Amino acid sequence: MATTKDTAPPVTRELRGLALYREHADEITHEGHGIYTVPGCSGGTYRVDLAVFGGTESCSCPDRATVCKHVICATIYRATARAAARRAQAERTAARASRGNVAALAAAL
Ligand SMILES: [Zn+2]
Repeated sequence: MATTKDTAPPVTRELRGLALYREHADEITHEGHGIYTVPGCSGGTYRVDLAVFGGTESCSCPDRATVCKHVICATIYRATARAAARRAQAERTAARASRGNVAALAAAL
């Protein structure tokens, strides 16, 4: 007979990184140029370099995996922040276009 443990999906680094993001996104700090300070699960913080100018991502945590959960967490944080910035820019552009249309309409009257 299958138990919950038998059917539960494996907890991967990706899922641990996502869980870390969901629980601690407000504690992540962007230091600039792809460098982030990410909280650890047992207190303290780790420095993550997403290598935005090339090279390989790295983290100061003891996990020697190429991509640890902190790198995944910082990647999610960065993608979310960039998407929000793009949305805000699109809204500003749309607002400018709308104001331009109103001004053009007013000038035509
Ligand atoms: Zn790490």
